[in-house]
Amino acid sequence: ACLPRDKNVAVVGGGAAGFYAAARLLAKTKNVNVDVFEQLPTPYGLVRFGVAPDHPEVKNCTTKFDQVSGSPRVRYFGNVQVGSQQLGLDRLCSAYDGVVLSYGASEDRRLGIPGEDGENGRVGVIPARRFVAWYNGLPEAQGLRVDLESYDKVVIVGHGNVALDCARILLTDPADLATTDITANALETLRNSKVRHVEMVGRRGPLQVAFTTKELREMTKIPDMDFICDRELVAAECSKWAEWLDASRSLKRMMDLLMKHTVGEGRRQKKSFTLSFLKSPVEVVYDQPGAEESAEAPPQRIRFEVNRLEGAVDAARAVGTGAFVDIPCGMVLRSIGYVSTPLAGAPFNKRRKIIPNIAGRVTDDSGELVSGLYAAGWVKRGPVGVIATTMQDAYRTADAVIMDISNGHIGNDSDTGRSRDAVDQMLDSSGVLETCVTNAQWKRLDAHETEAGIKTGKSREKVTDIDRMLSIIRS
Ligand code: FAD
Repeated sequence: ACLPRDKNVAVVGGGAAGFYAAARLLAKTKNVNVDVFEQLPTPYGLVRFGVAPDHPEVKNCTTKFDQVSGSPRVRYFGNVQVGSQQLGLDRLCSAYDGVVLSYGASEDRRLGIPGEDGENGRVGVIPARRFVAWYNGLPEAQGLRVDLESYDKVVIVGHGNVALDCARILLTDPADLATTDITANALETLRNSKVRHVEMVGRRGPLQVAFTTKELREMTKIPDMDFICDRELVAAECSKWAEWLDASRSLKRMMDLLMKHTVGEGRRQKKSFTLSFLKSPVEVVYDQPGAEESAEAPPQRIRFEVNRLEGAVDAARAVGTGAFVDIPCGMVLRSIGYVSTPLAGAPFNKRRKIIPNIAGRVTDDSGELVSGLYAAGWVKRGPVGVIATTMQDAYRTADAVIMDISNGHIGNDSDTGRSRDAVDQMLDSSGVLETCVTNAQWKRLDAHETEAGIKTGKSREKVTDIDRMLSIIRS
């Protein structure tokens, strides 16, 4: 009989799902080692590049992630993209006992309307996710052209929390962001911003919004700003669905909030936030470029079709009425959800845009389980849910891994080709050990960012360029 050996699990993606899966594997086993592979030098995924800078408490989960990476049973391999030429998924699958795919959802949903991609050199609709990534310092988003000086109004399509994050950042006094970890460049751009009005437009009504009360309440607290929405519509919907609403305390609170804070049309304050309902975008309309106009002038108007709702309140469908309205603005952000993309060598459900799985165990095209392959987080269940949901979900996936190890489905002791030595040989031969960013190296960058932040009175000054990150790390 062979001696029991340690089991080795690879985690692809160093975001919330990856770290929570690793945390669970550590907590529930004594002999499982975890290697976390992250394509960026920096860990934490959307906790670093998505969560708003003025919500530092949400990022407290990184303390737990740091404890995970500090364990002698965990290794962090930043700057390593799985599925690339350097490290194909097949190599991970043949070296590790189990592989957890937790690489998130990197793309956003499109509106699918004319003018979306810009015209005559004009920018067009900007994904909210990219705008967020820009102010949060994601290296690949730093090239985004954010012009907040040529116009005073931004339209955001979508009624979720990310849309609210964008609206809040655009309307908050930059002085209130100056102590956060927002990038220096974004802060400077916001200081020079002429944007005073943000309109957030959704295709359905007030009872179908996707954002949460806490985030909406923050909007009502921005000083010197009118909070505008169609009070009559809110009242009518609330009375129409009163019985149903009685059973939903949080939605009721939100409707009360809307009724209480809405000032009605007519701008009195310098700034305004308008929540618009029952409109679907149909086209970004650009005026013909005039001789004096710059080729990169912002879009002029976004055209919406006015909708009415059909069906039950919790499954209401927006149906176009044939009436149209134009909202003039300088910048349009779209924030209507995300999609995951396939990873070379891994099964992918093209329709649902997730990795097909049964409770975290990945299945192939014919629905058969793929031994040793697991999924967690947004790529497993679709890009919805907060960090707490992602944690629960990652725990369930880790539990499946642990169960499969204890049942002997994976991690056979006689399979010495999957020992830690074999793993290290594979990592060495693929050049990963040479090019990766280790946890100790990330900590060096982390300290650099924190120190740079202290100098300017901020919680952190993020390094936003990969080459610079690597030179600090390797100095
Ligand atoms: P991610 O966090 O995206 O992590 C995936 C990681 O995988 C990334 O680091 C990525 O770089 C890496 N990766 C991708 N491909 C590869 C590859 N091929 N090889 C190696 N690594 C790869 N939740 C809250 O609770 N509060 C909030 O305030 C909040 N704000 C949010 C704001 C925004 C803009 C967004 C988009 C989401 C927000 N969320 C918030 C939701 C929260 O971020 C998610 O629930 C959570 O991050 C999902 O975790 P994940 O690990 O599945 O994905």
